[in-house]
Amino acid sequence: MLLDGVRNTASNRISFMGDNGITSLLILQDREMNLERIERSLESLPFERDSIQKKIAALESEIEAGKQRIKEMEVRGKAIETEMGEVENQALKYKNQQLEVKKNEEYTALTHEIELAEAKVSGLEETELKLLYDIDDARETQAKDEVEIKEKIEMESRALSRLDEKEANLKSEIDAAREAVGEAESQVEKQPLSIYRRVARGLKYPIIVPLREAKCKGCHMRVSAAVEVEARKANEITTCDNCGRIVYWDA
Ligand SMILES: [Zn+2]
Repeated sequence: MLLDGVRNTASNRISFMGDNGITSLLILQDREMNLERIERSLESLPFERDSIQKKIAALESEIEAGKQRIKEMEVRGKAIETEMGEVENQALKYKNQQLEVKKNEEYTALTHEIELAEAKVSGLEETELKLLYDIDDARETQAKDEVEIKEKIEMESRALSRLDEKEANLKSEIDAAREAVGEAESQVEKQPLSIYRRVARGLKYPIIVPLREAKCKGCHMRVSAAVEVEARKANEITTCDNCGRIVYWDA
């Protein structure tokens, strides 16, 4: 259907022209461009897939980093507990020693040590309490973040599935597109075809362009009067004297 449409459009466009083979060349060009579009899309798929997978990996490591931060806080909490236990034991030892000392100054010195230890314990308790609040906050934030991040991952995964679908579609199109190019090529006379192939070298599509108000629609430059006359007659394949593209008269 689509290819018929292309053929009709091409025929209508130049039905008033001489028989220089441009109609069949335009059909060939349209089909080649379609094939190229499919090939380009297929080539770009791995890059598109790779970029999505990188995004997913980055999102997953964001979740991991959050979990890691909480784990580190918990480890810090355990270290505080351990230290607190040690200081408490030390204070207990001082208290036991106090029961046995005879001298007043020794007793006073131990009292001082006990006070220091108790002050340290209460400092550690304060630090621990603050840390526990921070851990609570961090867990809450992490839970919220994870929901958001997982939604993003889900979105990217859907994009991946769409790429798979796209790939399947393109692969199913490509054989027909190649066949269509071959078929169109077989309809072009030998001479116009060889001019087309020669001109196509080093050029990007479109290789065949209309000439409007004496301007080439490929390079947008004004062509010489001779080229304009030749294109109007359409007895032969005419090329733009600036960019080398094949031009056809399109009033
Ligand atoms: Zn040109």
